[in-house]
Amino acid sequence: MNTHEFRTHAHELADWMADYLERVGEYPVTPPVRPGDIKKQLPVAAPENPESFASIFQDFREVILPGMTHWQHPGFFAYFPANNSEPSILAEMLTATLGAQCMVWLSSPAAEELEERMMEWLRDMLGLPGPFTGVIQDTASSSTLVAILTAREHRSGYEINRRGFGPADRFRVYTSTQGHSSIDKDVKIAGIGIENLVKVEVDETFAMIPSRLEMAIQEDITEGFVPLCVISTIGTTSSTAIDPIGEISRICRKYSVWHHVDASYAGTALILPEIRWMSDGVEGADSFVFNPHKWMFTNFDCSAYFVKDKQALINTFSILPEYLKTPEDKLVNNYRDWGIPLGRRFRALKLWFVIRTYGISGLQEKIRSHIQYGQWLKQEMHNTPGVELMAPVPLNLVCFRFNSNKQTTEKEVDATNARILEALNRSGKVFLTQTKLNHKVVLRFVAGQTHTSLEDIQNGWRFIYETGRSMCNEQ
Ligand SMILES: *Cc1c(COP(=O)(O)O)cnc(C)c1O
Repeated sequence: MNTHEFRTHAHELADWMADYLERVGEYPVTPPVRPGDIKKQLPVAAPENPESFASIFQDFREVILPGMTHWQHPGFFAYFPANNSEPSILAEMLTATLGAQCMVWLSSPAAEELEERMMEWLRDMLGLPGPFTGVIQDTASSSTLVAILTAREHRSGYEINRRGFGPADRFRVYTSTQGHSSIDKDVKIAGIGIENLVKVEVDETFAMIPSRLEMAIQEDITEGFVPLCVISTIGTTSSTAIDPIGEISRICRKYSVWHHVDASYAGTALILPEIRWMSDGVEGADSFVFNPHKWMFTNFDCSAYFVKDKQALINTFSILPEYLKTPEDKLVNNYRDWGIPLGRRFRALKLWFVIRTYGISGLQEKIRSHIQYGQWLKQEMHNTPGVELMAPVPLNLVCFRFNSNKQTTEKEVDATNARILEALNRSGKVFLTQTKLNHKVVLRFVAGQTHTSLEDIQNGWRFIYETGRSMCNEQ
């Protein structure tokens, strides 16, 4: 493809992209496909000869698109959102066009310096304390792994990197029973062993009970373990429960344990001063992660990782082979030493585009409206007989279930809700996911799409309610 053809197709695609964003609500939010349906439409071997862009694009529309779940669909209430926005998409186009590697300052000076500035902007926007320094990672899973590895190396005097684990390195990591599954994975990868991940009990709001954490740490010390790291959560995945960050920080300091805060989803809400109570005491934490790629309108991937002791991070990850040495090494950030991969995408650009396009006030307005939608839903469900709220609603995730009193056992209620969820998701109109709270099947409704409106939420809820109610009545 030459640049003349590229120009023509890029214009075509720009039109297609704008049409898609305008009409995404007309697609079924989840596709009516079965496993293997897409693959069997794809040739078993790569093409021997060149194919035209027209035929590639036609297959995109006819094979790929009908097999996609539409995350930006107004009926998408599942998981947590992975929002995009117009400025973010435009920046991604430029990132791809520049095709730059952002591993060291010299490899992309402007990318490195923009990233530094964007992390300062985000830190200040979220009200994180000054000593925190930020770097963009691909995902929260990686950010938390980076935190655990840094804690491990800091604790061992950077010895485990050198000699591997010794018999005295009997580390323990703590999170609540509601901690994200990526923590399990990270603990395994970090060589700590999943048996050394302690899941601390939660209270009736699903927040970690600090006294239980302290008891667990004390018991472990008595048994000869080394408490290494506590991972608290602002906004758990099941129900956006908020751990008491300040109290956990205090315990961590008392026992010299690294405190990492996982605010992957809910961190974005800290741009609202009225929501800052969620992070009270965060100045006592050692590291913090949130994902602009979830709720801050910056398309996947972009995870903002902050660390207080930047040198500990760098000491953990730095490598300096001859071919990567540059004359500026002492003057600049070489982000290759701030995480796992060497090669890095230019992710700061989309943050810059998004933050400038909305402004802090525009971002605040959107997040505030999403939280209002969540509160509207909570009130609505609270007032609806046969619908039960299953967790507090601090933000815009509502956990609920249908319970018409016709079912006699919890098992029947679970089965009914599982069937309702399946019917809802088969409709193509809405997409929700489930979780379990106190061993009960719970449906999750997240009201946080970039362009979602109260009307979208009301329409979605009406459909969910009518479907659920009629299925309960058929019992
Ligand atoms: C989504 C989520 C994660 C994982 O995020 P990735 O960026 O996909 O790795 C971790 N923790 C919490 C609380 C989450 O909600």
